[in-house]
Amino acid sequence: MTHLDDRLLILRGQIREWGAQVRPLALEIDRDPEAVRHHFALPAVRHLATMGVPEEYGHEPEKIGGHRFYGVSALERAVVMEELACADVGTLVASPGPLLAGVAVGLCADDRQKRWFYGRVLAEPLWTCFALTEPEGGSDAAAMRTSLTSTPDGGALLSGEKRYVGNACRAQLGVVFARARPGPLGITAVLVDTAEPGFDARPLDMIGLRGARISSVVMDRMPIPEDRFLGRHLTATRRGVWAFVQTFNVLRPGVAAIAVGIARAALEYVAEHRSTLSGAERERYEELVRRVDATRHLVHHAAAAVDARGTDGHLASAAKLRAARLAEDVTLAAAAFFGPGARLSHPFLDKLARDARAMEFLEGTGNMQRLNLFQGLLGGKVDRDRRRVPADA
Ligand SMILES: Cc1cc2nc3c(=O)[nH]c(=O)nc-3n(C[C@H](O)[C@H](O)[C@H](O)COP(=O)(O)OP(=O)(O)OC[C@H]3O[C@@H](n4cnc5c(N)ncnc54)[C@H](O)[C@@H]3O)c2cc1C
Repeated sequence: MTHLDDRLLILRGQIREWGAQVRPLALEIDRDPEAVRHHFALPAVRHLATMGVPEEYGHEPEKIGGHRFYGVSALERAVVMEELACADVGTLVASPGPLLAGVAVGLCADDRQKRWFYGRVLAEPLWTCFALTEPEGGSDAAAMRTSLTSTPDGGALLSGEKRYVGNACRAQLGVVFARARPGPLGITAVLVDTAEPGFDARPLDMIGLRGARISSVVMDRMPIPEDRFLGRHLTATRRGVWAFVQTFNVLRPGVAAIAVGIARAALEYVAEHRSTLSGAERERYEELVRRVDATRHLVHHAAAAVDARGTDGHLASAAKLRAARLAEDVTLAAAAFFGPGARLSHPFLDKLARDARAMEFLEGTGNMQRLNLFQGLLGGKVDRDRRRVPADA
């Protein structure tokens, strides 16, 4: 099992405390995701605004228990994500910060690009977006149609459509994946400043995870200068498809942790609002608590595996698959503790169940995780993990 060290336990305690200030915002952000703009001063929101910016790019987060946390490890992010998702997943995904785009930049950008991107993120709270999914079918990312057409100055014109892109309608910066040439090595990622001409993003009406401001994006001959191509200094195999697969590997334990946090929030709600439980209800409740705890262990284990080796995303797929299922099951089971009509009379539980459903799709559907996990099993990578992880794990 992967255990949290003292440093991460201190972080967890602090984020849990900050989370208590976020919980009261849950229904407000669900109603109006833009309301997060009034809460930039909250420590949890401030923490997210720079989480993931490495120390060497000038990040100086407040000390917590004598330590600084930069948010660059998957295990650290999993701890933060679970706590804040438990407090309110809407505020977590509504908050400005570099998250997905920041990880792609960390993996693929050259030093100048990192200074530009991280410098902007540190200067003021701003939203970023990571645009991969297209309307024709997000799971088949390699079939993307968004194109980059070369221009004589070495740059390109970016054209195409993206769908379901978190926070795109309010993002100032983004990482957009597009095809520069046919074939799998023809996909590449570019940095965009959304204020520049040719970028138009509009929010989609969502039922769950409304804080994320999921958007559709149209790019129409958007000029991309040569120095905004990510991975110029890397070999062709390290750009494009490799970049988004790696980004997802690194971030997936965090998504799984969000699902665990949603499930925990539902159980905490039951504990708070049902002072007595019958024997059968208590058994049911304790079984759900055990499922949440077991899934958290898997998530931490998957995060540690990804931290040890970024290409090992199959355990992260197992964790995300299981956690997404858990979030849906537990939020619906929690509502059942309050009888028929519970989702009408307990709006917070209704919101949790709506938010939980989104976890199936975010960063790859259940089927995509199954495929990834089985490829890992067939390739012997899952056994390799077991050999590497100490026996007490
Ligand atoms: C809350 C939320 C936030 C998101 N944020 C972002 C973001 O920031 N950036 C971004 O780019 N995208 C984002 N997405 C999009 C997300 O990544 C996609 O929804 C997801 O990849 C699935 O794509 P799709 O919706 O087009 O479904 P499809 O790919 O059309 O899939 C539909 C169904 O078919 C199944 N399926 C598809 N292919 C196969 C196959 N080969 N084998 C078996 N089953 C298959 C899927 O499992 C699914 O059940 C977000 C989505 C949500 C819900």
